[in-house]
Amino acid sequence: MSGDLSPVDDPVAGPFFAGILEGRFTAQRCNSCEALRWPPLSGCPDCHSRSTTWVEVAPTGTIWSFVVYHRAFQASLKEEIPYTVAMVELDDGPYVVGRLVPGDKPPAVGDRVVAELGEFGGVPSVRWRTA
Ligand SMILES: [Zn+2]
Repeated sequence: MSGDLSPVDDPVAGPFFAGILEGRFTAQRCNSCEALRWPPLSGCPDCHSRSTTWVEVAPTGTIWSFVVYHRAFQASLKEEIPYTVAMVELDDGPYVVGRLVPGDKPPAVGDRVVAELGEFGGVPSVRWRTA
C-alpha cells in the first residue's frame, strides 16, 4: 500500500497543484465578489462566500519581499543552501510564495519575475526566475 500523501489530493489546494502538473498557473476567484486569492482557502476572506472557481492567472509579478535561507528548511534542500524564498505580488493581484531560481545577481525588492512550474524535489510547485 502506497499511502503517500500528494498535494494534488488536498481538498482545498489540490486543484492548484494539479494545475501546475498541467502547466497552468491558477488561483481561486470568488464567484460572489470576483476577488482573486492565493493561498487557496475554503471560503472568500472578503465576502465569506464558499463558491469558488479556479482560473488561470498571469505567471508574472514583482518581488514584494524575500529571505535567504542559510539552513535547510527541509533535508532535501540541504544541497541548495543558500537559497532564496520570495513573496511575489502577481500582476493579477494575489501574493504567492516560492523559491527563486538561483541567478547571476542577488534579488531585490521590485525585481520582475516569471513563474516556472514543475516538480521540484518531487513536489509540484512554483519557482520564480528574475526577468
Ligand atoms: Zn468574495
